Amino acid sequence: MLKKIFGLLTIIIVVFIAIIVFNTLTAKPWPQHKATALLSLPDSAIAHMSKAIQIATISPEDTSHIDTIHFNQFNQFVEKSYPLIHQQLKKTTINKYSYIYEWKGTDSNLQPIILMAHYDVVPVEPSAIKLWTVNPFGGEIKNGIIWGRGSVDDKANVIAILEATEYLLKKGLQPNRSILLCFGHNEESTGTGAIAIVNFLQSKNIKANLVIDEGGEITTTKLKDITQPVAMIGVAEKGYVTFELSVEKPGGHSSKPDKETAIDILSKALYQLRKTEMPSHITPPVKEFLNRVSGSSTDFIKKMALNNMWLFEGKVKSILSATPEGNAMLRTTIVPTIIESGVRENVIPTNAKAIVNCRILTGENTKDVEEFIRKQINDNRVKIKISGDFNTEPSAATDFNSPAFKEVEHAIYSIVDNVIPAPYIMIGATDSRNYRSISNGVVNFSPLIDSKGYHGIDEQLPIKDFQRAFNFFTIVLQDATK
Ligand SMILES: [Zn+2]
Repeated sequence: MLKKIFGLLTIIIVVFIAIIVFNTLTAKPWPQHKATALLSLPDSAIAHMSKAIQIATISPEDTSHIDTIHFNQFNQFVEKSYPLIHQQLKKTTINKYSYIYEWKGTDSNLQPIILMAHYDVVPVEPSAIKLWTVNPFGGEIKNGIIWGRGSVDDKANVIAILEATEYLLKKGLQPNRSILLCFGHNEESTGTGAIAIVNFLQSKNIKANLVIDEGGEITTTKLKDITQPVAMIGVAEKGYVTFELSVEKPGGHSSKPDKETAIDILSKALYQLRKTEMPSHITPPVKEFLNRVSGSSTDFIKKMALNNMWLFEGKVKSILSATPEGNAMLRTTIVPTIIESGVRENVIPTNAKAIVNCRILTGENTKDVEEFIRKQINDNRVKIKISGDFNTEPSAATDFNSPAFKEVEHAIYSIVDNVIPAPYIMIGATDSRNYRSISNGVVNFSPLIDSKGYHGIDEQLPIKDFQRAFNFFTIVLQDATK
């Protein structure tokens, strides 16, 4: 009898192993596509990009303190550099410095497409200037690269969109579908420009078929075991909520402290909060992402896990959660960002306060996060309340079978050889979240390869990438004639 059971078990194990190995060995890499030959950049494009960087359109924290000189200068620069756009497209100014350009299509029954980008930039911290190898606002061109603040985020897209539009106007292109170019002026601070643009479009009952905004890009280095380039196409944004945790307990002289002070109570709460993370989930976009790259992994163990998710979902999650980005794709993240307490070294403070910032995974909401925080801390001396101005629930996800996603996929295939276009969840917030109220086709993608320096030091745009971005938008615009 025992022998029989043992024999049966052996057969089951062998069959299991055979299925796993079979699934791994027969997994096919994503089909290869040959990119089309890239058009050269228009003659003045590089000079325009350099000039755009030289106009320091820095987003102030307080938008009422906008540097009007530079923002006006940028507007004049665009008007002068793109004459056909200004002759043939209808320009609407929103909130003084955000702009909509409308290129009217011949068929008013078709929903328009929106290409959006922002031309404000983050400042360069005074302490970081010495770490730059170039003047951050010099727009220097050397070693085949255009250097400076905004060269990636997000003037690369602004200028590539303008160049592609001007180029196609010159060629006499007439789109069937209307095209709206929407440029926000304060994405890096409050994003009110984008909100006002969306309100304006809504008041005109405009629904867009496709909205492309910055976000994911192409990577050849971040996924070590995948030899093909992967285009990360953002299809959803995580939610955002900030909580204030506060403790009030009478303090006193530091020479005779209580066993527990307000600072102690808050510290313990934060420790409890960081000790356990919220549960992980593989959401549909992440599942599709894994599915698309699964056949191309050169790491046998990873490939085995990815192609046998029915058995190795836990293993896949642990591989993903090993990096901060991967972990953020799998779960709601919670992290303290500000702690405040105390006024003097010899006074035990009565109040201690912490600000905790959370990014909510698709499928969860603010209430779930608050409940988790309360349960983890499990101390009603810690008061928990929502704070902050940017709180928002996770966005809906753009369907990766939708025409909007397929259009972006098609343009990506045209600019990069053997690329895997893969949907993913945006872990940061962008202007485009507002556009979801007027479109089911919002896609976050910048046609750049492993861009360097955005929000950091030595921000730089290789001319090859700029050319690729120009081609990407040219294809999307040309497809609007079909
Ligand atoms: Zn940006």
